[in-house]
Amino acid sequence: MAKHQFQTEIGQLLKLMTHSLYSNKEIFIRELVSNSSDALDKFNHMRLTDEAFKDADWAGQIDINLDLEDNSLTIGDNGIGMNEEDLMENLGTIAKSGTKAFVESLTGDAKKDSNLIGQFGVGFYSVFMVSNQVEVITKKAGEEQAYKFSTDGTGEFEITPVTKESHGTVMYIKLKEEEKEFLEKYRVESVVKKYSNHIAYPIMMHFTEDETTGEGEDAVTTKVKKSEQVNVATALWAISKSELKKEDYVEFYKSLSHGDDEPLSYLHNKVEGGQEFTTLFYIPKTAPMDLYRADYQSHVKLYVKRVFITDDDKELLPTYLRFVHGIIDSEDLPLNVSREILQENKILANIKQNATKKILQAIKKLKGEDSDTFTQEYNKVIKEGIFQDHINKELLLDIVKYKSSVEEGMVTFADYVSRGDSEKKEIYYIAGEDEKVLRNSPLLEAYKKANIEVLIMDDKEIDEIVAPSIGSYKEWTLKDITTIEAPDSKTEEEKEEISKEFKSLTDKIKEVLGEEVKEVKTTTRLTQSPSCVVKDANDPMAGMAHMFAQMGQAMPETPLILEVNPEHAMIKKLDKLENDALFSDMAWILLDSAKLSEGLEPKDKSAFALRVSKVATEAL
Ligand code: ADP
Ligand code: MG
Repeated sequence: MAKHQFQTEIGQLLKLMTHSLYSNKEIFIRELVSNSSDALDKFNHMRLTDEAFKDADWAGQIDINLDLEDNSLTIGDNGIGMNEEDLMENLGTIAKSGTKAFVESLTGDAKKDSNLIGQFGVGFYSVFMVSNQVEVITKKAGEEQAYKFSTDGTGEFEITPVTKESHGTVMYIKLKEEEKEFLEKYRVESVVKKYSNHIAYPIMMHFTEDETTGEGEDAVTTKVKKSEQVNVATALWAISKSELKKEDYVEFYKSLSHGDDEPLSYLHNKVEGGQEFTTLFYIPKTAPMDLYRADYQSHVKLYVKRVFITDDDKELLPTYLRFVHGIIDSEDLPLNVSREILQENKILANIKQNATKKILQAIKKLKGEDSDTFTQEYNKVIKEGIFQDHINKELLLDIVKYKSSVEEGMVTFADYVSRGDSEKKEIYYIAGEDEKVLRNSPLLEAYKKANIEVLIMDDKEIDEIVAPSIGSYKEWTLKDITTIEAPDSKTEEEKEEISKEFKSLTDKIKEVLGEEVKEVKTTTRLTQSPSCVVKDANDPMAGMAHMFAQMGQAMPETPLILEVNPEHAMIKKLDKLENDALFSDMAWILLDSAKLSEGLEPKDKSAFALRVSKVATEAL
C-alpha cells in the first residue's frame, strides 16, 4: 500500500470542486462516461494495431450501476485501463497546463465554471462535487496486476494492488448524503441521454426496482435487478443527414464540447466517389480560453471507419481554425495508421483542404447576429488565416471585417466595394494600434472632406502586418493612406505652385530637423492640422512589415516625411518668422506633434515638453 500526496494544484482544485462548484453537479456523469468512452476508443484502436489483441473477442461497453443500499454508484468500462504509473500520472498529477489555467479562468459564476471543467481536462475531479469517497479499480490491457486508487478528496490518495479479472476501469463513487438523486434511475438516465446519447458504445444501466406480483392480500413486492441500455450508441456522424434533427446535432455537440451551449453553426458532409470521408464540424459561440496559447488543445478527432485514431493531431485543420470542434472519419486510411504516416499523408491533406473550404463557406453564410458573434470571437484568427492560407484567401477576405470611418460597427470588404468608387477600384485603410488615434489622424482629414471611406484597422500587432499582405480584394487594390497622396481638388500645377511658394520654408525646416526626416514638403491633404508625418511609399522597406514578421524579425524603422499644411495659420506665420531660435523650436514641435497624432513617440519627449512650454510662454 502506498500513500501519496496530490500535486498542490490538484489540492486546490479539489477544494474548489467540493466547496464552490455546486450547480450543475450532474456533469460528473458526463465526464466519467466521456473518460470511459475514451478508454474504449483506445483499446479498440489497440486491437487493430497490436498483434497481442488482434483476435480479442471484445465489445466495448459502459456500465452504470446504481446501488441504493450502499448509497453508491459505479461507472465502469472494459477499455484500456490503467497501471500504477498511469494512475499516478493521470489522476495524481496534471501534466497539462490544464489545472492552473482552469483555476485562473474561474469566474465565480457556478454555471459557467462547471462548463469549464471538461474543457480544461480536469473532468475526473468533478466527481468530488458529489462524493468524498472515490475508488478507481483498474487493470491495464496486457498487464497482470490490477490496482485500486482511493481517495477522500482531500490532500491524499492511496494506490493498492488488487485483483480484477479483465482489463478496464470501474469508478466506485460513494455519494454524499445530500446527493442521493444520482441513484434515481430516471435522473441518471436523463443525464446520460442529455450528454452522452451518441457515445459510440452502449451504456447499460443496472438498477433494482420493486415489482409486485399477485393482487390484494396476496400481493408480494420483491426487489428485482434490471438492466437497460440508455443511449442510442451510434456514431452520430455516420447517420444520414436526412435522419438527423437540429436537436441531435446540438446534443452531440454538448457531449463533444463538454458544455451546455448551443453551437453557432454546424456542418455535416459525406464525400463519396474517389476518396470517401465524413466530416462533422461545429463552430462554438465563444472562443476557447486557450485560443491564443501556444499549447492550445485541438478539438478535432480523427476516426478511420468509425474507429477512433487520435484527438491531438493539430494538423487536421489549418491552425487558424483551431477553434473548430468536430470529427473527421476516413474510409480510406489504414486502421493501423501511425503518427508518422499521418504527417505527410495525401489522403489527409485532401480531407483538410475540403474541410477548410466547407468550414469557411459555412462561416461566410452566417447572417446578422450570428455573423456579429463570429466576428467578435474570431476576427483575429481569420486575419491569421489571410496571412497563412493563400489558397483560401478569397473566402477569408469575404469573412473578415473592419471598422470604418463612415459607419459604426464592422464592415466587410464587400460592403466597402459596394459604395466605393468603382472606376478607381481602391480600398483605403489606415492601420495601427489604437482606434482613437487612428480616427483622429490628420491623414484622415482629406478623406473625410472628400467623403471617401477609410477602413480603420486597429488590431494590435496584427493589422499592420496582415493588411499590407492582402494586396487586393477582387479587382480592388488596398491602399495604406499613410503612404499615398491624399485625394484633393487641386491640380498638379497648383500643387507645384504651392510647393514653390513655400520652398524656402520647407528647406529651412529640413535644415533644422536634419536626418530625423527624409523630406519636408507641403501638402493639401490636411484641413485642421498644421502638419502630419507619412511613410515614404518609394522606400523599399515600406509595405514589407509582413515579410519581416514572417522571418520573425522586428521591422526596421522607415524614414518619415514631414508634410506641412500651407493653409494653416501656424505655417503661414512660421513662413514669415524671423526669430531663429523660436523657428527651430517650432520645427521640432511640428514634427513631434505630428508623430504623436499617429501614435508614434517623439524622439526626445522631455525636449518636446520643454519646447512647448517655451513657445507657450512666448505667446502669452
Ligand atoms: P481528460 O479526460 O481531459 O484527459 P480527466 O480528468 O477527465 O481529463 O481524466 C484524466 C485522465 O485519466 C485521462 O486522460 C485518462 O488518461 C485517465 N482516465 C480517466 N478515466 C479513465 C478510464 N475510465 N479508463 C482509463 N483511463 C482513464
Ligand atoms: Mg475526461
